[in-house]
Amino acid sequence: MDLGLKDKVALVAAASKGLGKAAAQELAQEGAKVAIAARHQEELEAAAEEIRRATGGEVLAIAADVTRRADVESLVHAVEEHWGRIDILVNNAGGPRPGLFAEMTDQDWLDALQLNLLSAIRLTALVLPGMRRRRWGRIINITSVAVKQPMPNLILSNTARAGVVAMAKTLAGQVAAEGITVNNVCPGYTLTERMRNLAAAGAQAEGISPEEVIARWERTIPAGRLGRPEELAALIAFLASERAAYITGTTIQVDGGWVQSLL
Ligand code: NAP
Repeated sequence: MDLGLKDKVALVAAASKGLGKAAAQELAQEGAKVAIAARHQEELEAAAEEIRRATGGEVLAIAADVTRRADVESLVHAVEEHWGRIDILVNNAGGPRPGLFAEMTDQDWLDALQLNLLSAIRLTALVLPGMRRRRWGRIINITSVAVKQPMPNLILSNTARAGVVAMAKTLAGQVAAEGITVNNVCPGYTLTERMRNLAAAGAQAEGISPEEVIARWERTIPAGRLGRPEELAALIAFLASERAAYITGTTIQVDGGWVQSLL
């Protein structure tokens, strides 16, 4: 299937590792020019070089913290200056801290909303005018299965990501007639550095091995294994494509069957 992504310009936020990096690589593999952003310049440059070598694609690395308004503005301006436009925006960020309602301060809530909701709103607001002028655009938010089935110990993430889904669904209706689609993808347990770190932390807390923590997660997943980042990336590339022009306002999980709800 030709996805029609050749020479499209994509910006993937939080993409030096894990899901963002896999999305950037998949888009580059399909012929898109890809800008990637993250906070740590060295890791970001290394990721860009890895993607260039793997795909032969054009990759631009721009250090930016998506929680900072000034960084997000200069990121979008730098990509637009370099390639003249942004056709595809993949919103992504790190995850907020785990914990229960009673443990959260006002600042924890503000930080989580900055990280996982405002970052997506700001990036979207900055790229949308260009997409509207060109009457073509794809906005894809990386959220979590938590938007369909909240995680008990991740109240900050559950709440901020629900906001992203509400924003995206509402916006999708407002820009659908202008050739712009807005969709959410929801990773389930997917083996990235973040999950390796969580397994190590859980293992230390309980005096078991990280493999045992991962095996415990796997027992909750009908597919019997964790996902691979490229399995989420494949959906992102399809939603970014010409072929997905009539798919908008959706929220799709890639979770090996983990979510128990009907929709
Ligand atoms: P990861 O492997 O830790 O990668 C996170 C990436 O985000 C890194 O490139 C990191 O680079 C960047 N980043 C973090 N904070 C940033 C910020 N403020 N500004 C710019 N870049 C930032 O994590 P992941 O597993 O790919 O997860 C990505 C997102 O998906 C997270 O929000 C996570 O909660 C969510 N998610 C993951 C899973 C899973 O199973 N993996 C499941 C559900 C949801 P720097 O540190 O250099 O900035």
